Amino acid sequence: MSEEKSLNFIEEIISQDVASGKYESILTRFPPEPNGYLHIGHAKSICLNFGLSKHFGGGTNLRFDDTNPTKEETEYVDSIKADVKWLGFEWVKECYASDYFDQLYAFAVQLIEKGLAYVDDSTAEQIAIEKGTPTVPGTGNDYRNRSIAENLALFAAMKAGQFEDGAKVLRAKIDLASPNMHLRDPLLYRIKKAHHHRTGDTWCIYPMYDFAHGQSDSIEHITHSVCTLEFIPHRALYDWCIEQLGIFPSKQYEFARLNMTYTIMSKRKLLQLVQEGHVTSWDDPRMPTISGMRRRGYTPESIRDFCERIGIAKRENIIDFSLLEFCVREHLNKIAQRRMVVTNPVKLVITNYEKGEELLSSENNPEDAEGGVRDVPFSNTLWIERADFMEEPTKKYFRLGPDLMVRLKSAYIIKCDRFEKDAEGNVSAIYASYIPESKSGSDTSGIHVKGTLHWVSAKHAVPVVLNEYDRLFSVEDVAGAEGDFKDHINPNSLNVDATAWGEPALVNDAIDARFQFIRKGYFYMDTTSTKDKLIFNRTVTLKDAWAKEQKK
Ligand code: ATP
Ligand code: MG
Repeated sequence: MSEEKSLNFIEEIISQDVASGKYESILTRFPPEPNGYLHIGHAKSICLNFGLSKHFGGGTNLRFDDTNPTKEETEYVDSIKADVKWLGFEWVKECYASDYFDQLYAFAVQLIEKGLAYVDDSTAEQIAIEKGTPTVPGTGNDYRNRSIAENLALFAAMKAGQFEDGAKVLRAKIDLASPNMHLRDPLLYRIKKAHHHRTGDTWCIYPMYDFAHGQSDSIEHITHSVCTLEFIPHRALYDWCIEQLGIFPSKQYEFARLNMTYTIMSKRKLLQLVQEGHVTSWDDPRMPTISGMRRRGYTPESIRDFCERIGIAKRENIIDFSLLEFCVREHLNKIAQRRMVVTNPVKLVITNYEKGEELLSSENNPEDAEGGVRDVPFSNTLWIERADFMEEPTKKYFRLGPDLMVRLKSAYIIKCDRFEKDAEGNVSAIYASYIPESKSGSDTSGIHVKGTLHWVSAKHAVPVVLNEYDRLFSVEDVAGAEGDFKDHINPNSLNVDATAWGEPALVNDAIDARFQFIRKGYFYMDTTSTKDKLIFNRTVTLKDAWAKEQKK
Protein backbone atom coordinates (compact mmCIF):
# COMPACT_ATOMS: atom_id res chain seq x y z
CA MET A 1 0.00 0.00 0.00
CA SER A 2 1.45 3.37 -0.96
CA GLU A 3 2.26 5.78 1.83
CA GLU A 4 0.48 8.73 0.19
CA LYS A 5 -2.83 6.96 0.59
CA SER A 6 -4.51 7.99 3.83
CA LEU A 7 -5.16 5.23 6.32
CA ASN A 8 -8.66 4.04 7.05
CA PHE A 9 -9.81 4.08 10.67
CA ILE A 10 -8.84 0.48 11.37
CA GLU A 11 -5.41 0.97 9.80
CA GLU A 12 -5.02 4.05 12.03
CA ILE A 13 -5.70 1.95 15.14
CA ILE A 14 -3.33 -0.80 14.07
CA SER A 15 -0.65 1.64 13.11
CA GLN A 16 -0.81 3.14 16.62
CA ASP A 17 -0.75 -0.32 18.20
CA VAL A 18 2.32 -1.18 16.18
CA ALA A 19 4.03 2.14 16.95
CA SER A 20 3.39 1.79 20.69
CA GLY A 21 4.87 -1.70 20.68
CA LYS A 22 1.61 -3.23 21.93
CA TYR A 23 2.02 -6.16 19.55
CA GLU A 24 5.13 -7.60 17.99
CA SER A 25 3.22 -8.53 14.88
CA ILE A 26 -0.41 -8.48 14.01
CA LEU A 27 -2.70 -11.37 13.22
CA THR A 28 -6.17 -11.04 11.73
CA ARG A 29 -8.67 -13.70 10.74
CA PHE A 30 -11.44 -14.24 8.25
CA PRO A 31 -14.12 -16.25 10.09
CA PRO A 32 -16.86 -17.53 7.76
CA GLU A 33 -19.55 -19.86 8.94
CA PRO A 34 -19.53 -22.78 6.44
CA ASN A 35 -23.28 -22.57 5.82
CA GLY A 36 -23.19 -21.25 2.26
CA TYR A 37 -20.98 -19.89 -0.48
CA LEU A 38 -19.14 -16.62 -0.05
CA HIS A 39 -20.57 -13.48 -1.62
CA ILE A 40 -19.11 -10.13 -2.60
CA GLY A 41 -19.72 -8.84 0.97
CA HIS A 42 -17.36 -11.51 2.22
CA ALA A 43 -14.86 -10.44 -0.43
CA LYS A 44 -14.80 -7.05 1.23
CA SER A 45 -14.07 -8.63 4.60
CA ILE A 46 -11.41 -10.88 3.04
CA CYS A 47 -9.69 -7.97 1.30
CA LEU A 48 -9.80 -5.97 4.51
CA ASN A 49 -8.45 -8.70 6.82
CA PHE A 50 -5.78 -9.99 4.47
CA GLY A 51 -4.98 -6.44 3.37
CA LEU A 52 -4.39 -5.31 6.95
CA SER A 53 -1.98 -8.10 7.76
CA LYS A 54 -0.17 -7.59 4.48
CA HIS A 55 0.17 -3.87 5.10
CA PHE A 56 1.46 -4.31 8.64
CA GLY A 57 3.58 -7.37 8.01
CA GLY A 58 1.52 -9.93 9.90
CA GLY A 59 -0.71 -12.81 8.90
CA THR A 60 -4.33 -13.85 8.57
CA ASN A 61 -5.99 -17.08 9.64
CA LEU A 62 -8.87 -18.65 7.80
CA ARG A 63 -11.18 -19.78 10.55
CA PHE A 64 -14.35 -21.75 10.01
CA ASP A 65 -16.86 -20.67 12.58
CA ASP A 66 -18.52 -24.08 12.67
CA THR A 67 -20.47 -24.12 15.89
CA ASN A 68 -23.89 -24.62 14.33
CA PRO A 69 -23.92 -28.31 13.28
CA THR A 70 -27.25 -28.40 11.49
CA LYS A 71 -26.46 -25.83 8.82
CA GLU A 72 -22.85 -26.54 8.06
CA GLU A 73 -21.36 -28.75 5.40
CA THR A 74 -17.99 -29.76 4.01
CA GLU A 75 -19.07 -28.64 0.53
CA TYR A 76 -19.18 -25.09 1.88
CA VAL A 77 -15.78 -25.41 3.54
CA ASP A 78 -14.25 -26.47 0.22
CA SER A 79 -15.92 -23.70 -1.75
CA ILE A 80 -14.81 -21.06 0.77
CA LYS A 81 -11.18 -22.19 0.56
CA ALA A 82 -11.32 -22.14 -3.24
CA ASP A 83 -12.84 -18.66 -3.26
CA VAL A 84 -10.30 -17.11 -0.87
CA LYS A 85 -7.45 -18.59 -2.89
CA TRP A 86 -8.96 -17.44 -6.16
CA LEU A 87 -9.21 -13.92 -4.78
CA GLY A 88 -5.44 -14.13 -4.38
CA PHE A 89 -4.94 -14.56 -0.63
CA GLU A 90 -3.00 -17.07 1.43
CA TRP A 91 -3.83 -17.79 5.03
CA VAL A 92 -1.21 -18.68 7.63
CA LYS A 93 -3.41 -21.26 9.33
CA GLU A 94 -6.61 -23.06 8.50
CA CYS A 95 -8.56 -23.23 11.75
CA TYR A 96 -11.93 -24.54 12.89
CA ALA A 97 -13.82 -23.35 15.95
CA SER A 98 -14.78 -27.03 16.33
CA ASP A 99 -11.10 -27.85 16.95
CA TYR A 100 -11.43 -25.79 20.12
CA PHE A 101 -14.49 -27.56 21.53
CA ASP A 102 -12.45 -29.20 24.32
CA GLN A 103 -10.76 -25.93 25.19
CA LEU A 104 -14.02 -23.98 25.05
CA TYR A 105 -15.64 -26.53 27.33
CA ALA A 106 -12.76 -26.10 29.78
CA PHE A 107 -13.22 -22.31 29.63
CA ALA A 108 -16.89 -22.72 30.48
CA VAL A 109 -16.00 -24.94 33.45
CA GLN A 110 -13.56 -22.24 34.55
CA LEU A 111 -16.34 -19.65 34.54
CA ILE A 112 -18.60 -21.96 36.54
CA GLU A 113 -15.82 -22.49 39.07
CA LYS A 114 -15.50 -18.72 39.43
CA GLY A 115 -19.22 -18.47 40.08
CA LEU A 116 -19.65 -16.69 36.75
CA ALA A 117 -21.85 -19.18 34.91
CA TYR A 118 -24.86 -21.33 35.77
CA VAL A 119 -27.11 -23.95 34.29
CA ASP A 120 -30.62 -22.71 33.63
CA ASP A 121 -33.56 -25.10 33.06
CA SER A 122 -35.93 -22.40 31.81
CA THR A 123 -37.42 -22.50 28.34
CA ALA A 124 -36.20 -20.04 25.72
CA GLU A 125 -39.49 -18.12 26.12
CA GLN A 126 -39.09 -17.86 29.89
CA ILE A 127 -35.52 -16.66 29.53
CA ALA A 128 -36.59 -14.03 27.02
CA ILE A 129 -39.33 -12.74 29.32
CA GLU A 130 -37.04 -12.69 32.35
CA LYS A 131 -34.44 -10.72 30.42
CA GLY A 132 -36.71 -7.65 30.49
CA THR A 133 -36.54 -4.97 27.83
CA PRO A 134 -33.99 -2.25 27.13
CA THR A 135 -35.92 0.01 29.52
CA VAL A 136 -37.03 -2.62 32.06
CA PRO A 137 -34.34 -4.56 33.96
CA GLY A 138 -34.46 -8.33 33.87
CA THR A 139 -35.42 -10.53 36.80
CA GLY A 140 -33.40 -13.45 38.01
CA ASN A 141 -34.69 -16.92 38.67
CA ASP A 142 -33.81 -19.62 41.20
CA TYR A 143 -31.45 -21.39 38.83
CA ARG A 144 -29.23 -18.34 39.05
CA ASN A 145 -28.47 -19.26 42.66
CA ARG A 146 -27.39 -22.83 42.01
CA SER A 147 -24.18 -23.80 43.76
CA ILE A 148 -20.93 -24.13 41.86
CA ALA A 149 -20.87 -27.86 42.56
CA GLU A 150 -24.40 -28.34 41.23
CA ASN A 151 -23.59 -26.31 38.11
CA LEU A 152 -20.44 -28.33 37.48
CA ALA A 153 -22.36 -31.57 37.80
CA LEU A 154 -25.22 -30.40 35.60
CA PHE A 155 -22.92 -29.03 32.91
CA ALA A 156 -21.05 -32.35 32.84
CA ALA A 157 -24.39 -34.15 32.56
CA MET A 158 -25.38 -31.85 29.67
CA LYS A 159 -22.16 -32.82 27.92
CA ALA A 160 -22.78 -36.49 28.66
CA GLY A 161 -26.07 -36.30 26.79
CA GLN A 162 -28.34 -36.81 29.80
CA PHE A 163 -30.82 -34.11 28.77
CA GLU A 164 -32.88 -33.44 25.70
CA ASP A 165 -32.40 -30.52 23.30
CA GLY A 166 -33.53 -27.29 24.93
CA ALA A 167 -33.89 -28.80 28.42
CA LYS A 168 -31.03 -26.76 29.83
CA VAL A 169 -28.58 -24.05 28.83
CA LEU A 170 -25.41 -22.67 30.33
CA ARG A 171 -25.56 -18.92 30.97
CA ALA A 172 -22.98 -16.39 32.04
CA LYS A 173 -23.79 -14.64 35.29
CA ILE A 174 -23.18 -10.99 34.55
CA ASP A 175 -25.80 -8.31 35.08
CA LEU A 176 -29.54 -8.65 34.57
CA ALA A 177 -29.99 -4.90 34.76
CA SER A 178 -27.32 -3.96 32.24
CA PRO A 179 -28.45 -1.44 29.63
CA ASN A 180 -26.68 -3.76 27.17
CA MET A 181 -29.06 -6.67 26.67
CA HIS A 182 -26.14 -8.86 25.63
CA LEU A 183 -24.81 -8.70 29.18
CA ARG A 184 -28.04 -9.89 30.77
CA ASP A 185 -26.77 -13.37 31.50
CA PRO A 186 -26.18 -14.40 27.88
CA LEU A 187 -26.34 -18.03 26.77
CA LEU A 188 -22.95 -19.74 26.47
CA TYR A 189 -23.92 -23.32 25.63
CA ARG A 190 -26.99 -25.13 24.33
CA ILE A 191 -27.88 -28.77 23.93
CA LYS A 192 -28.18 -29.91 20.33
CA LYS A 193 -28.08 -33.60 19.55
CA ALA A 194 -26.96 -33.13 15.99
CA HIS A 195 -24.23 -34.58 13.82
CA HIS A 196 -21.38 -32.16 13.18
CA HIS A 197 -19.57 -32.17 9.83
CA ARG A 198 -16.21 -32.52 11.58
CA THR A 199 -16.69 -33.71 15.15
CA GLY A 200 -19.40 -36.22 14.26
CA ASP A 201 -21.40 -37.26 17.31
CA THR A 202 -18.74 -36.45 19.91
CA TRP A 203 -20.63 -33.43 21.14
CA CYS A 204 -24.23 -32.79 21.99
CA ILE A 205 -23.64 -29.36 23.49
CA TYR A 206 -22.41 -26.52 21.31
CA PRO A 207 -21.04 -23.11 22.27
CA MET A 208 -22.99 -20.01 21.23
CA TYR A 209 -21.41 -17.56 18.79
CA ASP A 210 -20.52 -15.09 21.55
CA PHE A 211 -18.70 -17.71 23.56
CA ALA A 212 -16.94 -19.36 20.64
CA HIS A 213 -15.85 -16.36 18.64
CA GLY A 214 -13.85 -14.25 21.05
CA GLN A 215 -12.29 -17.28 22.70
CA SER A 216 -11.27 -18.68 19.32
CA ASP A 217 -9.69 -15.32 18.50
CA SER A 218 -7.84 -15.45 21.79
CA ILE A 219 -6.67 -19.05 21.38
CA GLU A 220 -5.17 -18.11 18.00
CA HIS A 221 -3.70 -14.86 19.40
CA ILE A 222 -5.62 -12.74 16.92
CA THR A 223 -4.65 -9.15 17.64
CA HIS A 224 -7.35 -7.34 15.69
CA SER A 225 -10.68 -9.07 15.23
CA VAL A 226 -12.58 -7.15 12.60
CA CYS A 227 -16.30 -7.66 12.15
CA THR A 228 -19.39 -5.85 10.92
CA LEU A 229 -21.33 -3.17 12.80
CA GLU A 230 -24.10 -5.40 14.12
CA PHE A 231 -21.53 -6.84 16.54
CA ILE A 232 -20.95 -3.55 18.36
CA PRO A 233 -23.31 -4.53 21.21
CA HIS A 234 -21.53 -7.90 21.48
CA ARG A 235 -18.17 -6.26 22.13
CA ALA A 236 -18.72 -5.85 25.90
CA LEU A 237 -19.37 -9.56 26.21
CA TYR A 238 -16.37 -10.33 24.00
CA ASP A 239 -14.18 -8.35 26.39
CA TRP A 240 -15.87 -9.74 29.50
CA CYS A 241 -15.19 -13.37 28.61
CA ILE A 242 -11.55 -12.72 27.75
CA GLU A 243 -11.01 -10.72 30.91
CA GLN A 244 -12.68 -13.24 33.24
CA LEU A 245 -10.72 -16.11 31.70
CA GLY A 246 -7.48 -14.12 31.77
CA ILE A 247 -6.52 -15.17 28.25
CA PHE A 248 -4.82 -13.45 25.29
CA PRO A 249 -6.48 -10.03 24.88
CA SER A 250 -7.81 -10.05 21.32
CA LYS A 251 -9.79 -6.90 20.50
CA GLN A 252 -12.83 -6.46 18.32
CA TYR A 253 -13.29 -3.61 15.79
CA GLU A 254 -16.31 -3.00 13.62
CA PHE A 255 -16.84 -1.67 10.09
CA ALA A 256 -19.93 -1.23 7.91
CA ARG A 257 -20.97 -4.28 5.92
CA LEU A 258 -21.17 -4.03 2.15
CA ASN A 259 -24.62 -3.61 0.66
CA MET A 260 -25.12 -3.33 -3.09
CA THR A 261 -27.93 -2.24 -5.37
CA TYR A 262 -29.98 -4.84 -7.28
CA THR A 263 -28.76 -7.77 -5.23
CA ILE A 264 -28.74 -9.34 -1.78
CA MET A 265 -25.94 -10.19 0.64
CA SER A 266 -27.27 -12.93 2.80
CA LYS A 267 -26.31 -16.55 2.57
CA ARG A 268 -29.70 -17.55 3.92
CA LYS A 269 -31.53 -15.73 1.13
CA LEU A 270 -29.06 -16.85 -1.51
CA LEU A 271 -29.67 -20.43 -0.40
CA GLN A 272 -33.40 -19.90 -0.97
CA LEU A 273 -32.71 -18.73 -4.53
CA VAL A 274 -30.79 -21.94 -5.16
CA GLN A 275 -33.19 -24.30 -3.39
CA GLU A 276 -36.28 -22.83 -5.01
CA GLY A 277 -34.75 -22.87 -8.48
CA HIS A 278 -34.69 -19.11 -9.12
CA VAL A 279 -31.09 -19.63 -10.18
CA THR A 280 -29.40 -22.84 -11.27
CA SER A 281 -26.78 -23.09 -8.53
CA TRP A 282 -24.62 -21.17 -6.07
CA ASP A 283 -22.28 -20.37 -8.95
CA ASP A 284 -25.01 -19.22 -11.31
CA PRO A 285 -23.40 -16.21 -13.02
CA ARG A 286 -26.23 -13.95 -11.81
CA MET A 287 -25.46 -14.66 -8.17
CA PRO A 288 -23.46 -12.14 -6.12
CA THR A 289 -21.36 -15.06 -4.93
CA ILE A 290 -17.64 -15.13 -5.59
CA SER A 291 -18.09 -18.42 -7.44
CA GLY A 292 -20.88 -16.90 -9.55
CA MET A 293 -18.75 -13.91 -10.39
CA ARG A 294 -15.84 -16.17 -11.27
CA ARG A 295 -18.02 -18.23 -13.61
CA ARG A 296 -19.38 -15.05 -15.15
CA GLY A 297 -15.86 -13.88 -15.94
CA TYR A 298 -15.11 -11.31 -13.25
CA THR A 299 -11.41 -11.27 -12.40
CA PRO A 300 -9.95 -11.37 -8.88
CA GLU A 301 -8.05 -8.19 -9.73
CA SER A 302 -11.26 -6.32 -10.47
CA ILE A 303 -12.94 -7.49 -7.26
CA ARG A 304 -9.91 -6.44 -5.22
CA ASP A 305 -9.86 -3.10 -7.01
CA PHE A 306 -13.54 -2.63 -6.19
CA CYS A 307 -12.98 -3.42 -2.50
CA GLU A 308 -10.10 -0.96 -2.42
CA ARG A 309 -12.16 1.79 -4.04
CA ILE A 310 -15.17 1.50 -1.73
CA GLY A 311 -12.91 1.57 1.30
CA ILE A 312 -14.33 0.95 4.75
CA ALA A 313 -16.79 3.03 6.69
CA LYS A 314 -18.37 3.23 10.12
CA ARG A 315 -21.84 3.74 8.73
CA GLU A 316 -23.93 1.48 6.50
CA ASN A 317 -24.57 2.53 2.94
CA ILE A 318 -25.47 0.95 -0.35
CA ILE A 319 -22.94 0.76 -3.15
CA ASP A 320 -23.99 1.05 -6.76
CA PHE A 321 -23.52 -2.25 -8.58
CA SER A 322 -22.28 -0.22 -11.56
CA LEU A 323 -19.11 0.58 -9.65
CA LEU A 324 -18.19 -3.10 -9.52
CA GLU A 325 -18.96 -3.40 -13.24
CA PHE A 326 -16.80 -0.36 -13.91
CA CYS A 327 -13.87 -2.08 -12.16
CA VAL A 328 -14.48 -5.25 -14.16
CA ARG A 329 -14.51 -3.31 -17.46
CA GLU A 330 -11.36 -1.41 -16.53
CA HIS A 331 -9.45 -4.63 -16.04
CA LEU A 332 -10.94 -6.60 -18.92
CA ASN A 333 -10.28 -3.80 -21.38
CA LYS A 334 -6.58 -4.28 -20.66
CA ILE A 335 -6.47 -8.06 -20.85
CA ALA A 336 -9.37 -9.28 -23.02
CA GLN A 337 -8.72 -10.88 -26.39
CA ARG A 338 -10.76 -9.25 -29.14
CA ARG A 339 -12.84 -11.63 -31.20
CA MET A 340 -15.65 -11.25 -33.71
CA VAL A 341 -19.04 -12.79 -33.02
CA VAL A 342 -22.18 -12.01 -35.02
CA THR A 343 -25.66 -12.38 -33.55
CA ASN A 344 -28.96 -12.37 -35.40
CA PRO A 345 -27.00 -12.67 -38.64
CA VAL A 346 -27.74 -11.78 -42.24
CA LYS A 347 -25.74 -13.00 -45.23
CA LEU A 348 -23.37 -10.65 -47.02
CA VAL A 349 -22.04 -11.75 -50.43
CA ILE A 350 -19.03 -9.97 -51.91
CA THR A 351 -19.63 -10.40 -55.62
CA ASN A 352 -16.24 -9.24 -56.95
CA TYR A 353 -14.11 -11.21 -54.48
CA GLU A 354 -12.62 -13.91 -56.67
CA LYS A 355 -9.84 -15.22 -54.45
CA GLY A 356 -12.20 -17.65 -52.78
CA GLU A 357 -10.67 -17.12 -49.33
CA GLU A 358 -7.65 -15.72 -47.53
CA LEU A 359 -6.34 -15.43 -43.99
CA LEU A 360 -6.35 -11.91 -42.59
CA SER A 361 -4.57 -10.85 -39.49
CA SER A 362 -6.26 -9.07 -36.62
CA GLU A 363 -4.95 -7.54 -33.42
CA ASN A 364 -5.81 -9.43 -30.25
CA ASN A 365 -5.82 -6.40 -28.01
CA PRO A 366 -5.12 -2.82 -29.07
CA GLU A 367 -4.52 -1.95 -25.38
CA ASP A 368 -1.72 -4.46 -25.09
CA ALA A 369 1.38 -3.99 -27.26
CA GLU A 370 2.35 -7.61 -26.60
CA GLY A 371 -1.12 -8.98 -27.31
CA GLY A 372 -0.14 -10.24 -30.76
CA VAL A 373 -2.36 -11.02 -33.71
CA ARG A 374 -4.47 -13.93 -34.87
CA ASP A 375 -5.59 -15.23 -38.24
CA VAL A 376 -9.14 -14.58 -39.29
CA PRO A 377 -10.41 -16.34 -42.41
CA PHE A 378 -12.16 -14.15 -44.97
CA SER A 379 -14.24 -15.31 -47.93
CA ASN A 380 -16.90 -14.04 -50.30
CA THR A 381 -19.78 -15.03 -48.05
CA LEU A 382 -19.93 -13.52 -44.60
CA TRP A 383 -22.33 -13.14 -41.72
CA ILE A 384 -22.92 -9.63 -40.44
CA GLU A 385 -25.36 -8.33 -37.84
CA ARG A 386 -28.86 -7.80 -39.14
CA ALA A 387 -28.91 -4.65 -37.01
CA ASP A 388 -25.99 -3.28 -39.05
CA PHE A 389 -28.09 -2.98 -42.22
CA MET A 390 -30.85 -0.48 -42.94
CA GLU A 391 -33.00 -0.67 -46.07
CA GLU A 392 -33.62 3.04 -46.06
CA PRO A 393 -30.74 4.57 -44.15
CA THR A 394 -31.33 7.76 -42.23
CA LYS A 395 -28.97 10.68 -42.65
CA LYS A 396 -26.40 9.96 -39.96
CA TYR A 397 -26.43 6.22 -40.44
CA PHE A 398 -22.83 5.08 -40.86
CA ARG A 399 -23.44 1.37 -41.15
CA LEU A 400 -24.58 -0.55 -44.21
CA GLY A 401 -27.45 0.31 -46.57
CA PRO A 402 -27.98 0.58 -50.32
CA ASP A 403 -25.02 2.44 -51.90
CA LEU A 404 -23.34 2.96 -48.53
CA MET A 405 -19.73 2.05 -47.78
CA VAL A 406 -18.27 0.61 -44.59
CA ARG A 407 -15.06 -1.04 -43.52
CA LEU A 408 -15.12 -4.66 -42.50
CA LYS A 409 -12.94 -4.92 -39.41
CA SER A 410 -9.35 -5.99 -40.25
CA ALA A 411 -10.44 -6.56 -43.87
CA TYR A 412 -11.67 -4.34 -46.71
CA ILE A 413 -13.94 -1.45 -47.48
CA ILE A 414 -17.13 -2.63 -49.17
CA LYS A 415 -20.03 -0.94 -50.91
CA CYS A 416 -23.54 -2.31 -50.77
CA ASP A 417 -24.95 -2.80 -54.28
CA ARG A 418 -28.30 -4.44 -53.62
CA PHE A 419 -30.22 -6.71 -51.28
CA GLU A 420 -32.86 -9.44 -51.40
CA LYS A 421 -35.84 -10.22 -49.24
CA ASP A 422 -37.54 -13.47 -48.37
CA ALA A 423 -41.26 -14.25 -48.62
CA GLU A 424 -41.88 -12.68 -45.20
CA GLY A 425 -40.28 -9.43 -46.23
CA ASN A 426 -37.09 -9.87 -44.22
CA VAL A 427 -33.74 -9.03 -45.75
CA SER A 428 -32.23 -12.40 -46.68
CA ALA A 429 -29.02 -11.42 -48.46
CA ILE A 430 -26.96 -8.33 -49.09
CA TYR A 431 -24.71 -8.04 -52.16
CA ALA A 432 -21.66 -5.82 -52.05
CA SER A 433 -18.39 -5.20 -53.88
CA TYR A 434 -15.04 -4.74 -52.16
CA ILE A 435 -12.18 -2.37 -52.83
CA PRO A 436 -9.05 -4.55 -53.24
CA GLU A 437 -6.63 -1.69 -52.37
CA SER A 438 -8.40 -0.97 -49.08
CA LYS A 439 -7.01 -3.91 -47.11
CA SER A 440 -6.49 -3.02 -43.45
CA GLY A 441 -2.85 -2.34 -42.74
CA SER A 442 -2.00 -1.60 -46.37
CA ASP A 443 -4.84 0.65 -47.44
CA THR A 444 -3.94 2.75 -50.50
CA SER A 445 -7.52 3.37 -51.61
CA GLY A 446 -7.73 6.89 -50.20
CA ILE A 447 -11.35 6.19 -49.30
CA HIS A 448 -12.55 7.21 -45.85
CA VAL A 449 -15.55 5.59 -44.28
CA LYS A 450 -17.11 6.23 -40.91
CA GLY A 451 -18.44 2.83 -39.97
CA THR A 452 -16.56 -0.36 -39.18
CA LEU A 453 -18.50 -3.61 -38.91
CA HIS A 454 -17.52 -6.94 -37.43
CA TRP A 455 -18.21 -10.08 -39.45
CA VAL A 456 -17.39 -13.77 -39.72
CA SER A 457 -16.81 -15.90 -42.78
CA ALA A 458 -19.89 -18.09 -43.19
CA LYS A 459 -18.11 -21.29 -44.11
CA HIS A 460 -15.48 -20.93 -41.36
CA ALA A 461 -17.69 -19.66 -38.55
CA VAL A 462 -18.56 -21.75 -35.52
CA PRO A 463 -21.92 -21.61 -33.78
CA VAL A 464 -21.80 -20.08 -30.30
CA VAL A 465 -24.39 -19.63 -27.59
CA LEU A 466 -24.31 -16.39 -25.62
CA ASN A 467 -25.74 -16.11 -22.12
CA GLU A 468 -26.62 -12.46 -21.73
CA TYR A 469 -27.10 -11.59 -18.09
CA ASP A 470 -28.87 -8.69 -16.53
CA ARG A 471 -29.53 -7.64 -12.92
CA LEU A 472 -30.92 -10.46 -10.78
CA PHE A 473 -33.41 -8.11 -9.12
CA SER A 474 -35.35 -5.26 -10.63
CA VAL A 475 -35.35 -2.92 -7.63
CA GLU A 476 -32.38 -1.00 -6.34
CA ASP A 477 -32.75 -1.65 -2.64
CA VAL A 478 -33.82 -5.28 -2.56
CA ALA A 479 -33.51 -5.73 1.21
CA GLY A 480 -35.47 -2.52 1.83
CA ALA A 481 -38.19 -3.13 -0.78
CA GLU A 482 -41.73 -4.01 0.21
CA GLY A 483 -42.86 -7.64 0.31
CA ASP A 484 -40.79 -10.74 -0.06
CA PHE A 485 -37.38 -10.23 -1.65
CA LYS A 486 -38.24 -12.89 -4.23
CA ASP A 487 -41.14 -10.75 -5.51
CA HIS A 488 -38.50 -8.50 -7.00
CA ILE A 489 -36.57 -11.04 -9.02
CA ASN A 490 -35.99 -9.72 -12.54
CA PRO A 491 -37.80 -12.17 -14.86
CA ASN A 492 -35.43 -11.21 -17.69
CA SER A 493 -32.14 -11.68 -15.89
CA LEU A 494 -30.97 -14.17 -18.53
CA ASN A 495 -31.36 -14.06 -22.29
CA VAL A 496 -29.89 -17.01 -24.16
CA ASP A 497 -28.89 -16.07 -27.70
CA ALA A 498 -28.42 -19.18 -29.83
CA THR A 499 -28.27 -17.36 -33.17
CA ALA A 500 -24.64 -16.38 -32.97
CA TRP A 501 -21.64 -17.26 -35.18
CA GLY A 502 -18.09 -16.77 -33.98
CA GLU A 503 -14.73 -16.74 -35.67
CA PRO A 504 -13.06 -20.18 -35.63
CA ALA A 505 -10.20 -19.13 -33.33
CA LEU A 506 -12.66 -19.50 -30.45
CA VAL A 507 -12.60 -23.28 -30.69
CA ASN A 508 -8.94 -23.45 -29.77
CA ASP A 509 -8.78 -20.53 -27.37
CA ALA A 510 -7.86 -21.24 -23.78
CA ILE A 511 -10.87 -21.98 -21.61
CA ASP A 512 -9.91 -19.32 -19.09
CA ALA A 513 -9.26 -16.59 -21.67
CA ARG A 514 -11.12 -13.31 -21.30
CA PHE A 515 -12.78 -12.03 -24.44
CA GLN A 516 -14.16 -8.86 -25.79
CA PHE A 517 -16.60 -9.74 -28.54
CA ILE A 518 -16.17 -6.60 -30.57
CA ARG A 519 -19.03 -4.13 -30.18
CA LYS A 520 -20.91 -6.62 -27.97
CA GLY A 521 -19.32 -6.89 -24.57
CA TYR A 522 -16.92 -8.92 -22.47
CA PHE A 523 -17.44 -12.67 -22.45
CA TYR A 524 -16.06 -15.71 -20.66
CA MET A 525 -16.44 -19.36 -21.53
CA ASP A 526 -19.02 -21.09 -19.37
CA THR A 527 -18.09 -24.16 -17.35
CA THR A 528 -20.57 -26.20 -19.42
CA SER A 529 -19.04 -25.18 -22.76
CA THR A 530 -17.52 -27.89 -25.00
CA LYS A 531 -15.66 -27.77 -28.30
CA ASP A 532 -18.83 -28.95 -30.02
CA LYS A 533 -21.06 -26.47 -28.28
CA LEU A 534 -19.35 -23.25 -27.34
CA ILE A 535 -21.14 -21.31 -24.61
CA PHE A 536 -20.05 -17.89 -23.41
CA ASN A 537 -21.30 -15.83 -20.49
CA ARG A 538 -21.54 -12.10 -20.89
CA THR A 539 -19.40 -10.81 -18.05
CA VAL A 540 -20.37 -7.19 -18.56
CA THR A 541 -21.52 -4.95 -21.39
CA LEU A 542 -19.07 -2.57 -23.04
CA LYS A 543 -20.76 0.49 -21.63
CA ASP A 544 -22.94 1.10 -18.64
CA ALA A 545 -26.26 0.77 -20.48
CA TRP A 546 -27.98 0.53 -17.13
CA ALA A 547 -27.06 4.04 -15.98
CA LYS A 548 -28.56 5.49 -19.17
CA GLU A 549 -31.67 3.41 -18.71
CA GLN A 550 -32.27 4.87 -15.27
CA LYS A 551 -32.02 8.47 -16.46
CA LYS A 552 -34.80 7.98 -19.02
P1 ATP B 1 -24.60 -13.90 5.89
O1 ATP B 1 -25.68 -13.14 6.56
O2 ATP B 1 -24.50 -13.65 4.44
O3 ATP B 1 -24.60 -15.36 6.22
P2 ATP B 1 -22.61 -13.61 7.84
O4 ATP B 1 -22.07 -12.40 8.44
O5 ATP B 1 -23.50 -14.44 8.69
O6 ATP B 1 -23.28 -13.27 6.47
P3 ATP B 1 -20.24 -15.13 8.06
O7 ATP B 1 -19.89 -16.38 7.38
O8 ATP B 1 -20.48 -15.17 9.50
O9 ATP B 1 -21.49 -14.55 7.29
O10 ATP B 1 -19.20 -13.99 7.69
C1 ATP B 1 -17.81 -14.12 7.71
C2 ATP B 1 -17.21 -12.76 7.80
O11 ATP B 1 -17.61 -11.96 6.69
C3 ATP B 1 -17.67 -12.03 9.04
O12 ATP B 1 -16.57 -11.41 9.65
C4 ATP B 1 -18.67 -11.03 8.53
O13 ATP B 1 -18.71 -9.90 9.34
C5 ATP B 1 -18.15 -10.74 7.13
N1 ATP B 1 -19.23 -10.31 6.25
C6 ATP B 1 -20.37 -10.98 5.98
N2 ATP B 1 -21.16 -10.26 5.17
C7 ATP B 1 -20.51 -9.11 4.91
C8 ATP B 1 -20.82 -7.95 4.14
N3 ATP B 1 -21.96 -7.82 3.47
N4 ATP B 1 -19.90 -6.95 4.12
C9 ATP B 1 -18.75 -7.08 4.77
N5 ATP B 1 -18.40 -8.13 5.52
C10 ATP B 1 -19.27 -9.15 5.60
MG1 MG C 1 -22.75 -15.19 10.53
